[in-house]
This record gives sequence, structure tokens and C-alpha cells, in this order.
Amino acid sequence: MELMNKMKIVLGDILKGKRRAALGGHVRPDGDCIGSCLGLYMYLKEQYPEIETDVYLENVPEAFRMISCTDEVKTQADEDDVYDLFICLDCGDLKRLGFAEKLFENAKETLCIDHHVSNGAFADQNYIVPDASSTSELVYTLLDSQKISKRTAEALYMGIAHDTGVFQYSCTSPETMEIAAELMRKGIDGSEIIDKTYYEKTYIQNQILGRALLESMLILDKRCIVSVVRQKEMEFFQAVPADLEGIVSQLRLTKGVEVAMFLHETAPQQFKVSLRSKGSVDVSRIARYFGGGGHVRAAGVTMKGSSHDVINNITGQILLQLDRAEKESGDGAEETAGAQVDE
Ligand code: 5GP
Ligand code: MN
Repeated sequence: MELMNKMKIVLGDILKGKRRAALGGHVRPDGDCIGSCLGLYMYLKEQYPEIETDVYLENVPEAFRMISCTDEVKTQADEDDVYDLFICLDCGDLKRLGFAEKLFENAKETLCIDHHVSNGAFADQNYIVPDASSTSELVYTLLDSQKISKRTAEALYMGIAHDTGVFQYSCTSPETMEIAAELMRKGIDGSEIIDKTYYEKTYIQNQILGRALLESMLILDKRCIVSVVRQKEMEFFQAVPADLEGIVSQLRLTKGVEVAMFLHETAPQQFKVSLRSKGSVDVSRIARYFGGGGHVRAAGVTMKGSSHDVINNITGQILLQLDRAEKESGDGAEETAGAQVDE
């Protein structure tokens, strides 16, 4: 079954005879989600003009607006609309498609392109490669590289850069770098894309980051770092959820910690939890255990209860894995989590 999902699909075959196609990604879209959706959208518009193609995503954060065609993204769906094909990108489970889920269900045929290890292969056809750095990298492998335009290259390059932590996480393979090189040859300004979409922060984003770092705590014998941002702090700083992007990655950089946990209060007694690991803990297993998902070193879940309950429940699972990893390293078998890393 898993091998089936990894089998390369032929995009041209799937598109044959289709009159209308829709693309969609996960809620709170990140760099890879936007890069893969917009990259494929622009390619289809350019190479398959006979197909009427739409792209559905939640609001695109301001920083990503430098990518072409982000102004064409549809943020609402007509629930009765029936597409010949729905392509779901960078989305590990159907619920995370958000408002576009209805379009997926109505569509005559569905395709899922993804790299989340937790993906349950929910479409008619699934191209899921957990070892791939990003969905944007997977999209590249499905396209005719000769026909990739500069603007498509910009979108895909952004997606790859984001999910590899700017070509740094261990999901960055030689193939990832080769693909990035091919995209650079399309004449894109890679450093500007990275600077403007990845590193640049608004004053509000820096303030809330500072607050989260200041209030963070080391727990589990300093092997885990935790920070919580509540709704009242969001209001005080006039921050929106997209302003919290990157906080958990910064927490993870803390010397000595194995796992970083960031809680964002989304409603009273409800938290969006982001988890990051340096390798000895598989955080996707923990997120899945509580109903979420993700990758070995980057995962997330939404949980109900007080922040103390949420932290206690998750640390219980982290501890189980840390203890096992310690025992195994004592036996000379280090690294329980594999080489797969990304967001
Ligand atoms: P983040 O912590 O940046 O929101 O997410 C890290 C990774 O976990 C991303 O790949 C994201 O798609 C995945 N993820 C985050 N939250 C959830 C969730 O609630 N459910 C599932 N299935 N995946 C999630
Ligand atoms: Mn991704």
C-alpha cells in the first residue's frame, strides 16, 4: 500500500479530458503549502490553458504576496461546485483542507500530493513521499522542467526553502539541492525570496517572539522547552496567528533541548500545539496520538483543556520516547527517529 502511494504519477495522464481543476492546501497555509499550490497553479495555467483551474487557500499572509498570482487565490468556495479534478497539496489529512473540503468531496476525481508521514492516502490517487523535503520539491518532479516559468520557479523555490529551514534541515537531500539549482537557473532572485518570505519579521512578530522566548521554560531535566502565547497577549500585541510562525523553530535552537513545544491559545481551553524535535523524539507520533499529525521532527495538533493539562499530556509522551532513546543509546543503537526532517 505504502509503495503504491509512492509510485510516481504522470500528471499529463491525470489531466487528460479534464475541463475544470481545483487546487487546495492546508489551513493556515505556510511557505511550502503556498509555494506548491501556486507553483502548480501557474504551471497548469501556462501549460494547460484549456483547463479552467482555480486555487483555494485560506488568507495568504502578507509576506508571501511577492509570489505571482497570490491575488488570484480563492478564499471562499461554492459548496455545490463540482470540479473534474481536485488536487490536494501539502495536506496530511482531509480535515486540514478547511473550507475546501466540500470541493474535494464533490470532485469527480481526487489527487493528493504530499510529504507528511502521517498522511493516510485519502484521495483516489496519492503521491506521498515522506522522505521528500517538501511538497514543492515533489511538484517539481512531476513537471517538465523545460517548461517551468520563472514565476513558477519562484513559488517552488520558496516552498523548498521554507520546509528545509533554508536548506539546513536533514530532509535536504542532494536531489533537493539539484532541484533548487535548476530553479535558480530560471533567473529567480533566490536570496530576495528567502529574505522577504522567511527571515523578514514585522515589529509585531519580533515582539511576540521576544515575549514567547522570555516566558519559555525548560522542563524534563532541560531536555524540553515550552512556551505559551495566550489570546490576551495576542490582543495586547495586536498579533494574528500567522505572526507566530517561526517561534517554535527559534525555541528548538536552544542548546541542550531535544524537543520544543509551543502552545497558542486559539479559544478558551483550546490550544494549537507545535512540536519540533532534534531527532531522538518522533513528534509526529506524539501529534498523531492526540489526533494531529506532521513529520518526525515537526508536527502539530490542536488540544482541549488547560495549558497545564496539554503540557502534561504531551510531556508524558515525550518522556516515554526520551527514556527509550536513552536506553537504546546505552545499547549502542542511537537515533530512534530516522533522517526525515521537515515542516
Ligand atoms: P506547525 O507546528 O508548523 O503548525 O506544523 C508542523 C507540521 O505539522 C506541518 O507539516 C503541519 O502540516 C503539521 N500539522 C500541524 N498541525 C496539525 C494538525 O492539527 N493535524 C495534522 N494532521 N497535521 C498538523
Ligand atoms: Mn510541507
